[in-house]
Amino acid sequence: MVPVFGYYVGYTWVDWALLVVLYFASGLGITVGYHRLVAHRSFECRPWVKVALLIAGGWALENSACKWAADHVRHHVRCDEEEDPYNATRGFWHSHVLWIFYKTPPDLREKYEAPFRKDPVTMWQHRNYALILLSGLALPFAVGATYGGWKSGLGCFLLAGVARMFMVLNSTFCINSVCHLWGEQPHTSTDSSRDNWLVSLVTLGEGYHNYHHAHQRDYRNGPRWYNFDPSKWFIFGLSLTGLAWNLCRIEPERIRYQA
Ligand SMILES: [Zn+2]
Ligand SMILES: [Zn+2]
Repeated sequence: MVPVFGYYVGYTWVDWALLVVLYFASGLGITVGYHRLVAHRSFECRPWVKVALLIAGGWALENSACKWAADHVRHHVRCDEEEDPYNATRGFWHSHVLWIFYKTPPDLREKYEAPFRKDPVTMWQHRNYALILLSGLALPFAVGATYGGWKSGLGCFLLAGVARMFMVLNSTFCINSVCHLWGEQPHTSTDSSRDNWLVSLVTLGEGYHNYHHAHQRDYRNGPRWYNFDPSKWFIFGLSLTGLAWNLCRIEPERIRYQA
């Protein structure tokens, strides 16, 4: 549908611009909001910043932050084992996307969601997830329709809504698949995690996954100044303006390296 519309009708610069804006917004919502803030508590921030991050993360079609963080913590705790939701030892396609078709046993859901259910902002987002998700599709339609009528609204909805969701979803999936199959292991080989800087280019910095598995609470996934990690720059930027604080950072001499 997305390429068919592009071929017969075409997309405007507004559609492309909003695609980029919403890719970054929903991508940072996942990496900064869902992953580093909720799942790993690698920094603290003002409540309204958390609300904004979790709304933007909800636009990525990756479940509520509560469910996402519960799955993610289970991945870290049980990496490469039967209980690991994205178990990469079951092959590329399972860890990339097929895992979403497996239902989490209720006892595991209870156990891993419990810590996140205590947070009022996370639970507010959980209750309103469907509405937030729909707003991520309604927004591009509204912008396009305001700009050039319903046909333009449909174009903007398809490119900055549907195609953008597909792109962000697959970039996140690459961390669970590519970053557990291909890349280097400079920090730890206790699990299959790998550093893959190419993946960082599309995941806003999450490709340094071997470092992340070695030092999960660090607000940086790429700890070196030259590592492409826009999410850490975003968090650092928030801290400079006083909107975030208590950033967890592993000092250089304490970073684990393999012999
Ligand atoms: Zn991992
Ligand atoms: Zn993590």
